[in-house]
Amino acid sequence: MKLFYYIRVKFKLILKKFFIVPSFCKECGRNVHDFVVDDNIWHKVSRYIKNGHVLCYDCFCEKCRHAGLPDVWKLVKH
Ligand SMILES: [Zn+2]
Repeated sequence: MKLFYYIRVKFKLILKKFFIVPSFCKECGRNVHDFVVDDNIWHKVSRYIKNGHVLCYDCFCEKCRHAGLPDVWKLVKH
């Protein structure tokens, strides 16, 4: 699956040079929906993004886990 994500990101980066394309995750290539992240959290996570500064929520959660911040995205019942 990682190879598929890599190819999708590279393909969209090439498309972006010639066409207007919707914002896409720079980790997996999926089109993204907006979500809000605290600036301090984003600063800690953004250093792990390879090709830009846009992530889908799934990849953001994975980067949080990688950055040692699993509680940022964990769903809890209030
Ligand atoms: Zn993604």
